[in-house]
Amino acid sequence: MPDEPTLPLTGRCSCGGVTYEVSEPLLGMGLCYCKRCQRRTGTAFSATTLTVPGSFSITAGEELVTTYVPGGDGWNKSFCSKCGGHLFTTNPDNPDLLAVRAGTFDGDPGVRPGLHQFTDYASAWWPVPDDDLPHFRERMQYPDV
Ligand SMILES: [Zn+2]
Ligand SMILES: [Zn+2]
Repeated sequence: MPDEPTLPLTGRCSCGGVTYEVSEPLLGMGLCYCKRCQRRTGTAFSATTLTVPGSFSITAGEELVTTYVPGGDGWNKSFCSKCGGHLFTTNPDNPDLLAVRAGTFDGDPGVRPGLHQFTDYASAWWPVPDDDLPHFRERMQYPDV
């Protein structure tokens, strides 16, 4: 396992217009292979880290943050309107559930992938690795946090 990270964790979007902090250790990281993530990122899967409620804050560029609301069972997707970089996602029914896109952290976020979800939708060209992590064919169930 990785070393305990130095808190707060920091991160930013691609252009640096939006910066954020996470004040508590992350709860975990999941890899999502759903088609929405493929289209949103343009690649095979998305790595996202779940935060402790209330531990995430935007430290600069709040005015640049735009949120796409997909509806249905999709989480709201927040990104920088200047560079298009995706930053975090929130559960529309429970805003305490906020997950940060793993690639946006400045340093080691201190967590590693703990599961694969929506594996039924994985691309033909990058199949889900056959590893020891839990595989969920549809959405994983987040713990009550
Ligand atoms: Zn940006
Ligand atoms: Zn997804």
